[in-house]
Parts: sequence; C-alpha cells; structure tokens
Amino acid sequence: MNRWRTIVFPLLLIQFVAGLSFGQQARFKVLAFYSATTEPDHVRFAQDAVKFLTERAAREHFAFDVTTRWEDLNDERLKSCQLIIWLNESPTNPDQRQAFERYMERGGAWLGFHAAGYNDKDTNWPWYVDFLGGTAFDTNSWPPLPALLAIDDRSHPVTAGLPPQFEAPANEWYIWKPDPRLNENVQVLVTLDSSNYPIGFKDVLTDGDLPVVWTNTKYKMLYINMGHGDKIFTSPLQNQLIDNAVLWLGTGAERPARLATGIRVSPRGITLNARTGKFYAVNTSQSAVTVLDAAAHFETQVQVGKLPVAIAVNPDTNRIYVTNGGSGSVSVIDGASDHVIANIPIGDLPYTITANPATNKIYVSRTFSDVTAVIDGKTNVATMLKAGAGDAVAADSIANNVYMISYEAPDVTVLDATDDHSSKIETPDHLWAIAANPATGKVYGASAGSSNVTIIDGKSHTTKTVGVGEIPCAIAVDSASGKIFVANYGSNDVTVIDATNDIVVGTVKVAPRPQAIAMDSGNHRVYVASMHEGTTAIVDGRNDSVLTTVKTGRAPVAIAVNSKTHRVVVLGLDGDLTVIDGTALTASPISIPEKQ
Ligand code: ZN
Repeated sequence: MNRWRTIVFPLLLIQFVAGLSFGQQARFKVLAFYSATTEPDHVRFAQDAVKFLTERAAREHFAFDVTTRWEDLNDERLKSCQLIIWLNESPTNPDQRQAFERYMERGGAWLGFHAAGYNDKDTNWPWYVDFLGGTAFDTNSWPPLPALLAIDDRSHPVTAGLPPQFEAPANEWYIWKPDPRLNENVQVLVTLDSSNYPIGFKDVLTDGDLPVVWTNTKYKMLYINMGHGDKIFTSPLQNQLIDNAVLWLGTGAERPARLATGIRVSPRGITLNARTGKFYAVNTSQSAVTVLDAAAHFETQVQVGKLPVAIAVNPDTNRIYVTNGGSGSVSVIDGASDHVIANIPIGDLPYTITANPATNKIYVSRTFSDVTAVIDGKTNVATMLKAGAGDAVAADSIANNVYMISYEAPDVTVLDATDDHSSKIETPDHLWAIAANPATGKVYGASAGSSNVTIIDGKSHTTKTVGVGEIPCAIAVDSASGKIFVANYGSNDVTVIDATNDIVVGTVKVAPRPQAIAMDSGNHRVYVASMHEGTTAIVDGRNDSVLTTVKTGRAPVAIAVNSKTHRVVVLGLDGDLTVIDGTALTASPISIPEKQ
C-alpha cells in the first residue's frame, strides 16, 4: 500500500558501485532503482536490500549498481545491464516507462519487490499491468506480520533448496485482482499458506488464493511481494529465495483459484455500555450492530451504515457511536431505545473511535489520513482536526487528554480534550495498541515493530521502554491490582508488568498468535483471544497462570467485559458472538436470530 509521506531521507542520492574488485570478471551486471522519498517502511526495506545485494555481489561475483535517479532508466544506461531491480517503486515518467518496455521486450530481466508492483486505476500504464500478469493491487493485510508461505514448485531455480513451507518475516501482504494465477502465462512459485487465515490486526485477510512470488513467463521477470519494513532479510530461507532469484534472472532466466478476500477489524468492534450493562458489537458484513443484555442474551440488531468496524459509548448520555468504514459516517444509537437517531458524515475511511464523557466529545480517526473527526455529542456536528496523527488506531482519555497513535508515525499525538490543542511525544516507531492506567496516570503503547512497551507519563510526557515478548499488539490494564498485561503475537505469550515500578513480573504462555486482550478488574481475570486459533485463554491475573482455554468461534477479534456480571463477550470476524461465563469458566455461542 502506498501511504506516501514527504519525508526525505538525506544522503541517499549517492550512487553506490559495489561488488567487484579490479581485475575480476563480472558474471552479470545488476542495476537497482529505488525511491528515497516514498513510504518510510519501503525506504527502510530498500536500504536493507542495498546492503544485502552489495554483499551478495561480492560473494557471487556480479556487478551491482544502485540509483535513486529514475532518469537512469534510459536506453543508454540499461543496455549494459543484465538485470534491473525495482526495490520500492515504479516509474511514472512516460520516457522512463518506454525505455523499460524496450529493455524487457528485447530480453532484459527484471526483479520487482513489494510496492514496485503496486498499480491501481491511477497508474495509467496498461503495459505494466499486462507485464505483471494482468493484475492490479487490490488490498493488503495490516500491520506487517510474519506468515507461513508454501512453495508451489520446488523444482524451479528460484525455489531451489527451500523446504515445502517456511515462515516469512513480518511483511505487508498484498492481495491482487484478478488473481495472477488465472493468467495462463503466469507461474506462481510461492503462495501465502491458507493456514495463516485469518491474518491481520486491522486489515485482516480471511480466505482465498494469495500468490506471493510469481513470474510472467512471457518475460524474464519475477515479482516478490516481500518488501515492507526492516525485517525482510532476517530469514535465511527467504534470503535463499532472493539469492536464487537474482542469480536466475541475472544469468538469463532460462527455463486456477479463488480470489483472496479481506475485511477490516478493530479491537473496538465490541463495547460495554457501563450505564446499562449491555453489550454492543459490530456485524461488519451485515452492516448492523448486535445488542445484548447484561447477561449477554440477544436483544436486538440495529441497521447502521456500511461496513461498521468500531464502536464507543458515552455512558453519561447513554449514546453509542459506530464508525461505518464503508459509508464514511458515524451512526449514533440511543441506548434507551436502541434506535439510530443520527448519521454523521465524517469523510473517507473512519476507523477507530473513542468517547470522552468528561467533555461529551467523540474522536474518530480516518485511516490513511492525518484527519481526526471530533463530534460534539450535544449537536452531533463533526469538525475535522488535522492533528497529524495519521492512521490513529487507539485513543484513550486520561487527565482529560486523548492519545492517538499511528503504526507509521514515530510519535504519539496528544490532544488536550478541552481545546483539542495537539502536541507530539516522540516514541520508538510502530506503536500498535495503547491503554491508559487512570490509577497512575501512565499510558502504555505496544511497539509491535520492536518487542517493547513504551510507557508515557501522562503529566510530564516523558517516556521509557520495557522489553516484552515479540510483536506486542494488545494491552489491558488492571487498575485495581496495578498490573499491565501485554499480548505478544510473535512469542505466543502475555507479559505482565508491575504498574508501579514498570518492571516485568511475569510471562504467561497462551495459544499461538494472541491478538486481543481484555480485563475483568472485578475478579482479576484476563481474556486473551487468538483469532488464528479460534480460542480465548482465561488467565488468573493474581498469580499469572492460565485457568483454561475455551473455543470462541472461528476467529475472535475483540472482547468486552461486564465486570459486574462477569460475562465476557467475544466478537468474531463473521459478526458471531460467544459468551464466556467468567465464574464457571465456560463458553457458549450466542444465537442471533436470522433476519426476516
Ligand atoms: Zn508496504
């Protein structure tokens, strides 16, 4: 995905020439192109790739040049190269495009990574669409996560020496439309294994065929979807694949299915109305909100806008707010009648939402933008705030502040909830989840890219980091006991942090790939859902041990807790709901009547 930012990385306009010492005969000559001003995670990948290829050039005796000047994509420069690599972008200039077309039609070789293959309705380069196998970028998983890949053809030179499957490091996985495998000229070499489904914290891939590496056999070309972030070269097996690809293409390159589908989810897809004890959960595919009573029995279903994704309550006013990702609006439900009483236009892609009862304001992030909509709960009028938070995924109010984070921004945006004045706190980048501890005034951010939790002092805005498990992605606070629980997607465990001293006091092993967590402070039980496994672990937060693990639907994504009745409701990807009795430690699906 192209979330372009105008950050310029200095020093990168220098051309590298690497790989060969004088007197050595180059086996072939490679020229790599990349942009230093595109999405930062794509630039990071390109920098890692340059390092990797420079080292490989020395080892494998090929010549390796790299440039950030797309003007170098001309007949004169290309004619001496056996292989062109695009690391993170494709050209937009017609002369450069035509020079590349001539180069490929005359038998040149091309290797493209990740965003280099990105094309959409605005790309306006039909030749390139055909070149890639007649396919266009459709959507992606988010954030970058590791995934199991399956090799389609182990006899191909590009997959030589690889096992039938391997775990690829964290990457943003692209979905293509139409499926390139349907093109008779395309040979798919590596596919996202179906055992990964569902995969994603926000943009979840749910099902279907997802080719990751393929070649259009009409050309000497290979597309590799990997290329987002700084983890790509951390797998020896994946490195082998890239080595094979460069050697195969550099030395001449001789030699049906369902579409992948995706859905956007949020850990705020379900919430408790503290005023009435009722649960409200989105049913994304049915454009509805399901309402359960305090005992978690079905009460009613309310039609809202298209593709509802997140939900928040102002208990003081008894109003429920639902972001409709598909219709660019927020539906307001009156908690007394459970009817929609307003639809507030917000603009494209509203995502996460939080209500601040102290001011009766509701904050709605718009994903892929720097705009936050602030709804006045009295008038139902939204004003747009350019706070610069970008893809804010969470906000919490504490000391009348609202904290917003973005996976891509290396800072936290703090809004003064009284006047919406914004300021920034620098943090390690790639924060995914955020939670506030009202008892201590501290705010916790999970650094999904760096195995740390960032702790922000809500008063001084100073930060410190605590090492936790791999890919921390969800946080729950037990303000009663002073413990913080962090779900680690990558290491399949929960880290327990003492809230007073900010030190790790325990680690609890749970089912693979935990990604949602919730706390019942009333009995100190922690609920940890694994979307991938279809289970929820119930952890005793007093002694940090798993009491039991229960089945909670095909793919649980979000959890809400009523700490008075100890009923816990788990929302699934399909809008299905499971109730856990937190006293008896049993789980059962909630039956939702078919619509008439
Ligand atoms: Zn990307």
